Amino acid sequence: MRAFVPLLPPECSKPDFMKSPFDKFQEETLKSLANQVSASLGTSVILPASGWAAMLRGLRGDCPRCGGARLFLRFLKPIPLCPRCGQDWTLQQADDFPAYVSILMTGHLMAPLIITLIRETDLSVPAVMAIVVSLALILMIGMLQPAKGAIIALQWWFGMHGFRKERLGAILDETEA
Ligand SMILES: [Zn+2]
Repeated sequence: MRAFVPLLPPECSKPDFMKSPFDKFQEETLKSLANQVSASLGTSVILPASGWAAMLRGLRGDCPRCGGARLFLRFLKPIPLCPRCGQDWTLQQADDFPAYVSILMTGHLMAPLIITLIRETDLSVPAVMAIVVSLALILMIGMLQPAKGAIIALQWWFGMHGFRKERLGAILDETEA
């Protein structure tokens, strides 16, 4: 019986369409982050004292776990690995919740302003629209990153999506929790 001969030799394999052109960049970023983590392994990590403290760190765009490094690699892309404490942030699942929070907050902040503009001023409708739309966009986009940081911080604090629940001065493990 003849053995199965593949049509293409292994070295001319088809291009891997699942691999994105950014994978190389990703791999290099991960490698340099891993190096930074190993360099800072001796430094102590100060965990936040409360969920609010963790949220505050996230709001400022800092790592909720150690507060000593940036949480975001790009505008809404969290760093895969904290360069200071080594926390894996790929576990976060903020999804579209930050956008939901930003829209909700923008609506509540804008409503009194819209009412005041219409009641107290004689501005034309296009003028009111120009102010309202531009301000709403600025608020919405401005709140996206802090909202995402705070949501990731809460997910980490409550040990959601595979995050390890850690508390200041106490070591929690799965059997205790
Ligand atoms: Zn950290």
